[in-house]
Amino acid sequence: MKVLFLLALVVLVVVNGLPVSVNQRKTYHGYKIYRLSLDTQQQLDYLVSMNDALQRNEMTEEVEFLTDTSLLSPDFKTPISVMVSPGQEAAFLKAMKAEAIRNEVALADLEKYLEEERYISPEDQRTVDNSGMTWTAYHRYETIERYVQTLAANYPDLVTLTTLGKSYEGRNLYLLKIGKPRADGAVKPAVWMDSQIHAREWIAAATVTYMVNKMVTGYATDATSRRMLDQIDWYVLPVINVDGYEYTHTNQRLWRKTRRVNPFSQYIGADPNRNYDHKWMVRGADQNPSSEIYAGAYPLSEFENVLVTDAVLQHKSQIKTLLTFHSAAEMWLLPWGYDSSVPDDFEDLRQMGLRATAALKALYGVSYRVGSSTQLLGAAAGATDDWGKSKGMIKYSATVELRDQGYGFTLPPSQIIASGEETFAAINVVAQIVYDEYGPTLPSN
Ligand SMILES: [Zn+2]
Repeated sequence: MKVLFLLALVVLVVVNGLPVSVNQRKTYHGYKIYRLSLDTQQQLDYLVSMNDALQRNEMTEEVEFLTDTSLLSPDFKTPISVMVSPGQEAAFLKAMKAEAIRNEVALADLEKYLEEERYISPEDQRTVDNSGMTWTAYHRYETIERYVQTLAANYPDLVTLTTLGKSYEGRNLYLLKIGKPRADGAVKPAVWMDSQIHAREWIAAATVTYMVNKMVTGYATDATSRRMLDQIDWYVLPVINVDGYEYTHTNQRLWRKTRRVNPFSQYIGADPNRNYDHKWMVRGADQNPSSEIYAGAYPLSEFENVLVTDAVLQHKSQIKTLLTFHSAAEMWLLPWGYDSSVPDDFEDLRQMGLRATAALKALYGVSYRVGSSTQLLGAAAGATDDWGKSKGMIKYSATVELRDQGYGFTLPPSQIIASGEETFAAINVVAQIVYDEYGPTLPSN
């Protein structure tokens, strides 16, 4: 087996998921990011089995696919990013050579890049509202917290801020309700947006807060922002996995899961995007706490998932679309994720995705694929969009995989504004579709 050939050459280092004491940041000196280009199905099959072997042998701290692993679908146009440690580089390159997989170094020293990524320049701190929030850098959670509080204080007629509850480690989760209330008090249709359920996908919260800021601060001067807030209410949960997100800043940039301590296990956290209580653990999830797709000990075991489901269900009759933002695959993913079947109204969902991503592409040419999660990426039961469609009874439910551009989860902060602008064009289309289908007001019950 060629996979074994690779693994035979490497030294097993089991550190993934082990508790690391606070402020002991994992460093990536000499780690490289390689970009791979594929030509054949055989090469693709090889990478899929290599990735399986890496996960199984807990070696993803050494060699990790940064492009969503499931991106390894037969679309040879998409480059695949892989992080490689100095210790495994020779073995990795030997395997690439044996398989004739074209490769180039995209990033020569990941640690150096991450130092730059962490640096917030004085210019970045010059913000309009004193919260410290900008969209030229990735910020710590306390800055995002201060930003949403400041926004609600500055725009009380457009923004309502609710504290949903606390994360496992005791951080507040916030829900913003954004929209201009109707003079007659009638209820408008609403769109739910959440982000940062996966800790390392920093562009998600950055993009969502950018869009929130554009809608709210643009209300007075920009016709599009005004229409979006006049016609639609927006429920926005900017950071779900707050503990994991902070951990990516303080300890391990590429952490994915929550930070809950698992009883009887040395491994921390679960994949919150496998933890929802619809078809939990049916397919594409794992019961081993060491796995990156560990579904949790039971459905809704994670505190943060409970807060999300409670909030969605509370506004269920008003919410007509649910968008959950991830990176980095450039896809608009639709239910179902537990199975390759699709809902009866799949064509409506697909049309929304196609129209939204066409508007997105029109701005900077970034091309998204649209389709069922299972068919595009492989099964992943217990994810948000499946839950929204079934338990939330929200017709339009989608997972939006934001920019990759060959960078995987470490998209340079210089791309935040472009990501925000193009995704804003997409949600503007979503707002129009919801408004056209459900009308200006919903029947009161
Ligand atoms: Zn994700």
